[in-house]
Amino acid sequence: MINSFHPPVRTLMGPGPSDVNPRILEALSRPTIGHLDPAFIEMMDETKVLLQYAFQTSNKLTLPISAPGSAGMETVFVNLLEPGDKVIVCQNGVFGGRMQENVERCGAIAIMVEDEWGTTVDVNKVEQALKDNPDTKALAFVHAETSTGVRSDVETLCALARKFDCLSIVDAVTSLGGIELRVDDWGIDAIYSGTQKCLSCVPGLSPVSFSERAAEVIRDRNSKVQSWFLDLNLVMGYWGSEAKRSYHHTAPVNSLYALHESLIILKEEGLENAWLRHELNYRAFAAGIESIGLSFVVDAEYRLPQLNAVSFPDSVDDATVRSALLNNYSLEIGAGLGTLAGRVWRIGLMGYASNKKNVLFCLSALANVLSSTGLQVDASKAVAAAEAIYSV
Ligand SMILES: *Cc1c(COP(=O)(O)O)cnc(C)c1O
Repeated sequence: MINSFHPPVRTLMGPGPSDVNPRILEALSRPTIGHLDPAFIEMMDETKVLLQYAFQTSNKLTLPISAPGSAGMETVFVNLLEPGDKVIVCQNGVFGGRMQENVERCGAIAIMVEDEWGTTVDVNKVEQALKDNPDTKALAFVHAETSTGVRSDVETLCALARKFDCLSIVDAVTSLGGIELRVDDWGIDAIYSGTQKCLSCVPGLSPVSFSERAAEVIRDRNSKVQSWFLDLNLVMGYWGSEAKRSYHHTAPVNSLYALHESLIILKEEGLENAWLRHELNYRAFAAGIESIGLSFVVDAEYRLPQLNAVSFPDSVDDATVRSALLNNYSLEIGAGLGTLAGRVWRIGLMGYASNKKNVLFCLSALANVLSSTGLQVDASKAVAAAEAIYSV
């Protein structure tokens, strides 16, 4: 007999999805209506306005793609690129590599600028690559590299793209709602994000935004976009602002209720307050981690407050610790990816999950599990170090 599925109640402190605010789950369960119902279309329009707020942009071409962050990534590349185009792709972790895949699958040429995993994108190397390749159409990079916990300097990289007259493409899947991000002020041309990281919404949608310059490139293409589903010239027949909306695909109606609610929650808190909250909880968490002798992979200057890559002594078995956390505490943290697999944990403090309760819970659970494996660590010490940050 197969019964209804009732998931265990977890605390999600991995690289995503993050804990979903119950208000969002409640919104998700409201009655489904038609995807062309006037009431639904009104909600779609509000969602676009709320996304403009989250992205800090007045870009008209701002909407959620009906699929996860990876589809937002693909939307940006397939719409902007044509065969033979040259793109400089910065890679300092997993997601830059996926950008390269996307560029090459568009028949375009990826010029790679590679940096060590765990370090920020080197602006000087990017400038040299732009000088060496004056026919570059776009510069693509990841704002918040979730595989390593590194932040890159979007403002400087976008200014470089402008200086060399090319478009900037930014992966903001893990940054939106968690750290400072200003699409218009920083001159970002194309950006994509996801719902399940710092927006703490259900997985499965990908907000995107394009500058007027980028929108023109899409309108003036010589060839058809290779993907029918992601072709924005067609999608905008449904998501555009013309009075007459027409069917393109059936929107994930209830998931969009959830996104709408998550953006209202973000607006109520205030974007800047959300950034500050992520920063404070990270500082408390870091104090706790360091007090028990664990360390961070990334230099303090470039760390993401929402994704902490923590390294541990060789004597500790990665998988044993993570399963003990899951089985005994119902707490999920992430494993290392790629070159960092087996060497670090990725501990997320994203969106709704970035709170004092989770910080203290994770520190004490982790310290208890580590001491049960024979390491000399003291949970109360970790908790006290974190509490000290909160009480300043
Ligand atoms: C999670 C993530 C993605 C992919 O998003 P999905 O929703 O898993 O498809 C892309 N880029 C970065 C930086 C991410 O962290």
